[in-house]
Amino acid sequence: MYKLNSKIRDLLPYEPISGDFKIRLDANESYLPFPKELSDEIKLGLEKTQINRYPDSKALELCKSFADFYGLNAENVVAGNGSDELISILVSTFLLKGENYAVFSKDFSMYNFYGSIYEANCITIEKNEDWTIDVKKAVEICKENGVKMLIFSNPCNPTSLGLGREDVKFLIENLSDTLIVLDEAYMEFWTQSLMEDVLNYDNLIILKTCSKAFGMAGIRVGFAVSQKNIVDAIKAVKSPYNLNSISQMIATKLLLRKDILLDATAKITAQTEKLYNAVKLLEKEKSLFTVLETKTNFVALKCDKAKEIWEYLKNKGIAVRCFGDFLRINAGSDEENEALLYEINNYIKGA
Ligand SMILES: *Cc1c(COP(=O)(O)O)cnc(C)c1O
Repeated sequence: MYKLNSKIRDLLPYEPISGDFKIRLDANESYLPFPKELSDEIKLGLEKTQINRYPDSKALELCKSFADFYGLNAENVVAGNGSDELISILVSTFLLKGENYAVFSKDFSMYNFYGSIYEANCITIEKNEDWTIDVKKAVEICKENGVKMLIFSNPCNPTSLGLGREDVKFLIENLSDTLIVLDEAYMEFWTQSLMEDVLNYDNLIILKTCSKAFGMAGIRVGFAVSQKNIVDAIKAVKSPYNLNSISQMIATKLLLRKDILLDATAKITAQTEKLYNAVKLLEKEKSLFTVLETKTNFVALKCDKAKEIWEYLKNKGIAVRCFGDFLRINAGSDEENEALLYEINNYIKGA
């Protein structure tokens, strides 16, 4: 009888959250709909797309538009089916079976997940009590364990905290034999990007997703930026047609519109600030939770009653994310934020 092997026997498919929700604040997506003013262009693009043909395997137009946005060359950019696919490719490409890679705890869970699928060995570096990162300790642990790859998000999902540029450089410069994968999924909402410096290092890959600030989670587009030799290795390993023609076409058109993207980012940042200030006020009044300083489009609330509040909101048709002892809630529109705060207040009154 055929038996599933040990690494997958107990795996369950990733289920974000099931049920019908009138308000979704659980996946850090942009709350803004795709810009209407591009509708005609997209329709025209759809008509021109040859669906019977394979997509451009290099996603050249798309990589060019992304590179232009950040002042890079397209040869330093490779596109993925979301950053998620790129994380999977990086772990499978730059690590041999059984080699050590390191992640922080807490951080984005997919880093662990793909590592285990490719049978690399994960070293977990604990963050400080307040979820900040001790970079000296991290360097020591990586050196002691001969870590081949250090992968982390900055700003961090799920903690919403950021590590300053100098600290990130400290890691890159003191771990020159280690590949540093810097996932800047939320960097549009902060100021400490290393994108301008990426080519100054031969051991750095920066990941960017179009799913958060750029509001295209539904079409799955992400990028890896690095030295040409590293980018070429990723291109050689990825499946040839990883990104479909329609996603390539739509993302290219939006990435060319810097004005729209910057405006959307500013709006989301303003909504996050409003949400942060509102929960901060509740924190002072009620001491039900502690709010972390956010550098992202979401707030993280440390809270003993996290599970209970999550359940309560779920029953009111509002989805947020619960991680045991804390909640992660992304900024929504005014109406969504207000509905959320209204229900948190109701919970507090009833508690
Ligand atoms: C959301 C997120 C991603 C996933 O991005 P996709 O492009 O949608 O796959 C990657 N890294 C972090 C830290 C994220 O929060």
